[in-house]
Amino acid sequence: MISFSQAQSKLRELCEAWITEVGLASESRSLSRGLGFYLSEDICAAQNVPRQTVSAMDGYALCMAGGDAIAHSEFQVCGESRAGKPYSGAPLSGNQCLRIMTGAVVPDWADTVVIQENTQKVADNKVVLLQDIAVGKNIRRLGEDIRRGQILFKQYQPITPSIVSALASQGIGTVNTFRKLKVGFFATGDELKAAGDCLSSGDIYESNLSAIAALIDGLPIEYSNLGVIKDSKADIAHCLQQAAQNFDVVISSGGVSVGDYDYVKDCVESMGKLDSYKVALKPGKPLCFGVLGDKSQTSALFFGLPGNGVSSFVTLSEFFMPALRFLVGGRQSPQKLQLMAILKNTIHKSSQRLEFQRGVLSSIVSSAGDISWHVTTFSEQDSHLVYGLAQANCMVTLSEDSGALQVGDRVKVTPFSWCFNG
Ligand code: AMP
Ligand code: MG
Repeated sequence: MISFSQAQSKLRELCEAWITEVGLASESRSLSRGLGFYLSEDICAAQNVPRQTVSAMDGYALCMAGGDAIAHSEFQVCGESRAGKPYSGAPLSGNQCLRIMTGAVVPDWADTVVIQENTQKVADNKVVLLQDIAVGKNIRRLGEDIRRGQILFKQYQPITPSIVSALASQGIGTVNTFRKLKVGFFATGDELKAAGDCLSSGDIYESNLSAIAALIDGLPIEYSNLGVIKDSKADIAHCLQQAAQNFDVVISSGGVSVGDYDYVKDCVESMGKLDSYKVALKPGKPLCFGVLGDKSQTSALFFGLPGNGVSSFVTLSEFFMPALRFLVGGRQSPQKLQLMAILKNTIHKSSQRLEFQRGVLSSIVSSAGDISWHVTTFSEQDSHLVYGLAQANCMVTLSEDSGALQVGDRVKVTPFSWCFNG
């Protein structure tokens, strides 16, 4: 048996070797279509932001260098600077000022903007200050946000909603990103039927493939659901052969255990290379991954998921998703949102395995405004309980060496992002 992190390192090595062989091609796409992709090159700032020194507020620009701007001083309004239409007249001085709007260029000779709310109009072209004004206020300096020439974002940066306006501020309409990864996935099992099919005795509806699609949907992945393949060596081998030619990664669900009809591992082994491990992990102890194809063709990676619904989900989300993220260009250390929560129930843990338990996380805000997090794990954690998974809003991670846990103990929790972002 190997540890979860040992298995992760082996999978990472396999992915690195595949990238060395195949390469991560780059392609250009419009910024508006780039969300979720990873930059394939550094991006340098071509523009200062702000591009010129501009006003932060609606008000009046004046030059205070030669005199005080104290309450009750009167200024004559001698011109206007609007966003997109700078003032182009002669420099103003003394008790003259310029009407100015937010984002409008502040002329070189002006050093302060007085906000409109601190003035009173006393005549058509005259304003009076309502309070003393400090020099230099309400001005956004050239380049104070972004300096021309600086590296804005590095290769491998994910394009997220919070970085697109910085890119757009540079006049960038297209970005070079790593290409989409092509992923094909199929389920194996004679008992599995598709929605709409009639069920005979012993049949069940196939339910892992839609979960695979749902989990990988946010990544830059072009995926194909290859459906259900019978528990037949010939059918599985045929599916793998076809898939190896059309996809970068082939994911299977089921048929990787020790049952008499679990043919997936044999088939992968016969047409490539398979690493198969007992991993100290619950759910999902048997994990396998490998390469389909030989030197004569570009190989595809193979990821094998267990058949039970929760095992399949946990194995994909916790083990294979980081690898998929790596393959599409993700290189930052995984920024998983985790927190420590106070356990509201006891947990009997005797296994020496890393456990991912489903639970419900909630917060309590004290009268002093402090937030504390509390979690309840479900008493039933079997690997087929997909409705338990549906009722959970987080995964509780119990380390290999953790024993039984008591009410009030602190445990590590990973919230499901889809339960907490809306
Ligand atoms: P296996 O790993 O193929 O031995 O499957 C383990 C258990 O998971 C069996 O009870 C299967 O019926 C069930 N199972 C396997 N694949 C799926 C699937 N795609 N959808 C729903 N249940 C499945
Ligand atoms: Mg099966």
